[in-house]
Amino acid sequence: MANYYCEYCGRSTTNVTSLTIAICPRHPDGMNKGRHKLYEGSEKSSYICKYCGRSARTIAALTAGKCPRHPKGMSKGWHSPAL
Ligand SMILES: [Zn+2]
Ligand SMILES: [Zn+2]
Repeated sequence: MANYYCEYCGRSTTNVTSLTIAICPRHPDGMNKGRHKLYEGSEKSSYICKYCGRSARTIAALTAGKCPRHPKGMSKGWHSPAL
């Protein structure tokens, strides 16, 4: 069965609907300010931040950290997985 992940927080669900209907705690507009966003890349053994190159084994672990090269400013947002 396929897993779907949120690009912002790494939450996984088994269908897109239940992912995108729920509020995301790591939404870029602020905590709980929007819904999960489907990560459109494939499942990987490690995920790389598209801004700074940091890698982590899961999207949840990657997006748990503030990114020093975030486009909104240093540590103004979380790491974001490249596709
Ligand atoms: Zn999310
Ligand atoms: Zn980063």
